[in-house]
Amino acid sequence: MATVGKGVLFIVASPSGGGKTTLIRETMRRLAEHGRPAHFSISHTTRSPRSKETDGVHYHFVDRDRFEAMVNRGDFLEWAEYAGNLYGTSRAEVENRLDAGEDVFLDIEVQGASQVKTKIPEVVKIFVYPPSYEVLKNRLTERRQDSAEAIRRRLRWAVREFGMGGEFDYAIINDRLDEAVGALFGICVAEHHRTHRLNTSLDAIREAFRSALERDITQ
Ligand code: 5GP
Repeated sequence: MATVGKGVLFIVASPSGGGKTTLIRETMRRLAEHGRPAHFSISHTTRSPRSKETDGVHYHFVDRDRFEAMVNRGDFLEWAEYAGNLYGTSRAEVENRLDAGEDVFLDIEVQGASQVKTKIPEVVKIFVYPPSYEVLKNRLTERRQDSAEAIRRRLRWAVREFGMGGEFDYAIINDRLDEAVGALFGICVAEHHRTHRLNTSLDAIREAFRSALERDITQ
């Protein structure tokens, strides 16, 4: 896959605990193996870091004042409140990477996904479904990072998020990781083969073809 023009922006949304972070990272590893390194956008959040999270790696952890100042400056491509905390995507980070021809992955919830679609209509939106209520509840409980009340809030919110899943371009059921990675990788490859994204390369091929034909038949 050659890098021509702007990169493609992918939003991967799912209820918290849906396993999308692992899914995105595994897919990015495969894309890199196929010559298409992509960038995983690091969000800002007012949520406190969990025990295994590092500032600047998993999130930029900021307080509410700093977050609100960034909102007022227009620093965010999108932002939303989720389960009592604020989350936002840096506009500059995303735009710079896309302009450099890199694909960018956003791991964001559904309200933010709608805002991005309004600003960047060519975004590709993928919704990741957990295979069942029990699986999502187990994943949230097993990571031992949220209180029982926080888990209940996230499960209730999941139902609202499913209601917006129909607005997405693609759906992936995250039951077996290898199959889900195969699906997301396939979507990324297919999106690069959309005719409008290949037009620059196709124009060059068409033009070279026409010239070669003319040379050939006038000999
Ligand atoms: P968590 O607190 O579990 O890391 O994330 C909670 C939810 O916030 C997840 O659904 C995650 O995708 C979403 N999220 C993370 N970063 C952003 C962001 O920058 N913007 C929006 N709108 N949602 C985000």
